[in-house]
Amino acid sequence: MIPQKTVQEIIETAKIDDVIQDYISLKRRGVNMIGLCPFHNEKTPSFTVSPTKNIFKCFGCGMAGDSAKFLMEHESVSYPEALRFLAKKYGIEVQETQVTPEMRAEQQLEDSLYIINEYAKQYFVNTLFNTDIGKSVGLNYFKERGYREETIKKFGLGFTLETPDAFTQKAIKAGYNIELLKKLGLASQYGKDFFRNRVMFTIHNLSGKIIAFAGRIMVKNVKAPKYINSPETDIYHKSKILYGAYFAKKSIRQNDECILVEGYTDVISLHQAGIENVVASSGTSLTEGQIGLIKRFTPNIKILYDGDAAGIKAALRGLDMVLEQDMNVKVVLLPEGEDPDSYLQKVGTNSFNEYINKESKDFILFKTDLLISEVGNDPVKRAGLVKDIVMSIAKIPDPLKRSVYLKECSRLMEMDEQVLTTETNKFVSLLIRKKKQEWERKQRQERRGQPKPSDDPGFPSEYPITGGGISAPDYETPSEPSKVKKTSDEFKEKDIARILISGGSELFDKDEGISIAEFLLSNIEEILDDFDNEIYGKIVKECLSLLVNKQQISSQYFISHPNNEISQTAIDLLHTPFEFSPGWERREIFLNTQKAPELNFTEDSRSALLRFKLNKVKKVWKKNQERLKDLKSDDDFTKITKILKVQKKLSTMIEELAKELGTVVL
Ligand SMILES: [Zn+2]
Repeated sequence: MIPQKTVQEIIETAKIDDVIQDYISLKRRGVNMIGLCPFHNEKTPSFTVSPTKNIFKCFGCGMAGDSAKFLMEHESVSYPEALRFLAKKYGIEVQETQVTPEMRAEQQLEDSLYIINEYAKQYFVNTLFNTDIGKSVGLNYFKERGYREETIKKFGLGFTLETPDAFTQKAIKAGYNIELLKKLGLASQYGKDFFRNRVMFTIHNLSGKIIAFAGRIMVKNVKAPKYINSPETDIYHKSKILYGAYFAKKSIRQNDECILVEGYTDVISLHQAGIENVVASSGTSLTEGQIGLIKRFTPNIKILYDGDAAGIKAALRGLDMVLEQDMNVKVVLLPEGEDPDSYLQKVGTNSFNEYINKESKDFILFKTDLLISEVGNDPVKRAGLVKDIVMSIAKIPDPLKRSVYLKECSRLMEMDEQVLTTETNKFVSLLIRKKKQEWERKQRQERRGQPKPSDDPGFPSEYPITGGGISAPDYETPSEPSKVKKTSDEFKEKDIARILISGGSELFDKDEGISIAEFLLSNIEEILDDFDNEIYGKIVKECLSLLVNKQQISSQYFISHPNNEISQTAIDLLHTPFEFSPGWERREIFLNTQKAPELNFTEDSRSALLRFKLNKVKKVWKKNQERLKDLKSDDDFTKITKILKVQKKLSTMIEELAKELGTVVL
């Protein structure tokens, strides 16, 4: 373990901007530096680095922390590894002490596993290049596949002999522990070699360490499986590994796309041909862990399917999971009888690239097309098809994306878009409810356990966002059970109060001579009694009476207000003009204006007002919805009709307000 004192020294010495600029380019913006976030896909930079506070924070995806945290996420290393890396960079000596025997044992075990795997790889490589049988069978096989020697070496390809215990004996003689060889699956329970007479593929983790092997059988007509893999160990978790990811990660980031294939040989062939952003799920269907791995580098996946894969439909079903993670999925169907490897050999790199770009289809549209061609005009099957598609669409967290798909699918299926939308929304609300329950359960668990230390560095107040004080639009997506909900009105009320006391007397419209206060107050006069927060309500009402009495609304008036609560709140409001509502950083917020709020009262008051109104209308709508639920079927029918009419009107209002705000509502 690294002593706490050293940890501190490392973190303090490591300059955050210096560390991060090794990986991404940053530009100065005021006292901070900004750049494109490496942890999520973005076109305008919201990744902010504060050299003074020595921390980073992304305002798009919420990732935040110090230098070590950055390395951990960016390079997929552990905390100690990140610290050691930084120590090396800054020439700090690390004396690792205070290790408990268990920790040392665990660390030593892990280190030993890596060391043995490295030894095994050397052995397999050596057998491939330096034995007769290795050369004639193994090397020949790889060369027939068109692999160049440098490719074979880069990927650590190898060979194992037929002899039952050639490797195990050699390893024991070299001093390696037989129990660990068994643990790694290199030796069987009886001390024989696990991999025999096979060409070997080395499997790396993201930082390039060897964690496992796969062996492909070389003898034909044997009942043994074509491929065998190392078992799960402390260092190898199949569901979280993608073959080739170590070699692909840089290119995935650069291309902002990850190509997914099935086999090891596909990865190697494509890589050798210069298509380096490629990984393989190694035959298994994609797991959540694997998707998470890809998502760290890009939200875009392109999946290549063999042309004759009978199981395409089943494979497609598994892809809903990818949609749920808000990733963009494209699929490419290769010509009949071809896999990526064979097709590449056949047509060459240029034509291959051209093909996968031209033939790539959006997953949902591809699926819709495929299913339509299957069900024909059978009405029962058609209903099943609709459900199938709609469920996929519902899993997309982004409502805007959903609506685009609904439009396109309704065209493809020749169905009314409204019907599809209604169906989709049913699933969406189901999903939201499920996620909410999950989230609440987690909250309860957390409350019962230790309070979690907040990793929010709470900075930077100087971040250049206008309307920064304004909380995010209130649309829901399944992935964000929102804690803001209950108090979101208060945040909007706070914005209005702040704008009024800090800039109420500024001109809203120069030509008409209307002040900000006049504009705001005339618009909310009738809902002044609906403020959730009493003190903000009081301030706003007082502004109104000042206005009516033709008195100046000024910050000084409120700061020296005789009511202590009001003066304190006023100071608060004026002091923290850039405060964000809780949870806002989890949402993608796009603001149109980039000036500091003080310079932008007009824009701010306009949008603050719209948001405020939108929320109030939504509230009434929800209340009515509850009332509708409570009504019994034998209740007065005219009552139901009346509420429904009101709801329709409110819905239109919500839509209009949202449109004006440039947001999307469910
Ligand atoms: Zn980000």
